[in-house]
Amino acid sequence: MSPVQAPDQVPVGALACQKDTFLKSFTTQCIGCSEKPDKKGFYEVLLFDTVLFPEGGGQPFDTGYIDDVQVYNVQRRGLQHVHFTKQPIAVNKQVTLTVDWDRRFDHVQQHTGQHLLSAVLEQEPYKFETVGWNLGEKLCYVELKPNEGKLPTEEQLQTAEQKINTMIAAGSPIITHAECNAADENRPDSLPSDYRGGVIRTIEIPGLDKNPCCGTHAKDLAQLQSIKFLHTEKIRSNNLRLFFVVGRRVLDLLDSSYKTCKTLTGLLSCGPEDFALQVTRLQNLQRAQAKTIKRLMAELASHAVTELTEQINKSGYAMVHREDADMDYLSLLGSLAKEQKLLEENDKAVIVLAGGEQSAGGPIIVLGANDEKVKKTAQTLTQHLDGLKGGGKGRWQGKCKTWKGWENAKDAVAALYTA
Ligand SMILES: [Zn+2]
Repeated sequence: MSPVQAPDQVPVGALACQKDTFLKSFTTQCIGCSEKPDKKGFYEVLLFDTVLFPEGGGQPFDTGYIDDVQVYNVQRRGLQHVHFTKQPIAVNKQVTLTVDWDRRFDHVQQHTGQHLLSAVLEQEPYKFETVGWNLGEKLCYVELKPNEGKLPTEEQLQTAEQKINTMIAAGSPIITHAECNAADENRPDSLPSDYRGGVIRTIEIPGLDKNPCCGTHAKDLAQLQSIKFLHTEKIRSNNLRLFFVVGRRVLDLLDSSYKTCKTLTGLLSCGPEDFALQVTRLQNLQRAQAKTIKRLMAELASHAVTELTEQINKSGYAMVHREDADMDYLSLLGSLAKEQKLLEENDKAVIVLAGGEQSAGGPIIVLGANDEKVKKTAQTLTQHLDGLKGGGKGRWQGKCKTWKGWENAKDAVAALYTA
């Protein structure tokens, strides 16, 4: 399907949302709509002008409504803007657009915050150039280039964060300049290659920064509320990603961190200042207990071998299931049986060892000196144990989904030896 054409649209660069970030609702005309939805079910709607920002300059698209029809996405194509809906809009119809304001204002805070952050870090005494940025769903980051081979230190980031927050509190105004993009030689390098003609917009933080940008920005720095630097990540061997959040996201992050702390305070019976100490204590305790369990299981296995010997002497085979046994225990028991030459002396005998709770299933091994006997026993088990899968010669090893059929399996194996 070819995209609808509309030569008379207000071009991207001079959109109502770019002229006035705070215009939340707006009446315009529908001048084009695809006849059928695309493969994903979306109609492409062209409006004369829009208050829904089309994705660009690192800022995600807005969502909102055309009358009561939901807009899922807005994209730029050259100088055109396209709205994506799941219902068609009648061409020539006067429509009222509304923007999802919470989403938009969040983007405004992050985007203007990024301009401020990059401007401060680019200047004395820091001199770290921003080579890219990302406005993510939860976190944002800027990618910084090293200055004379050096990346910012923790202390530098701390002072920069303080400086930016002081500037936010001072609340200086932000000015947007819009100029016709007449001559190609005046094009800023940062413009997308398919953006020709139209309007070049420049965002100015007076006394600090002037940057070409198509985004929707705050009217003054006070609207950013605050900025918080988070972790850093090395990228492309030399660069550094600095993660950050601005405005409402700072409070959202504080809220979720606070709730996590509250839950952990209850679970660990101590305040956040002792979390690390308490977790270390628990880890040490767990390691010590694992050692004790290993030692006790070894002792238990030596007794269990006696039981295996008695079963083999009595019936010609042995079958043991323990709810608390894991593969380590079964293997240990198997090697003890081997050490005591249980199977060498009884070359027709098999040993079946299984572990795990009845409803959860678990590992199983079948041992024997006679391959045929092992194979036949494993086949019999597979018929009676739900979801049992495994393989191997001499030592057959598998996993079962439930031990509900264990008693039946025992009877079937017994029948092999009485037949
Ligand atoms: Zn920008």
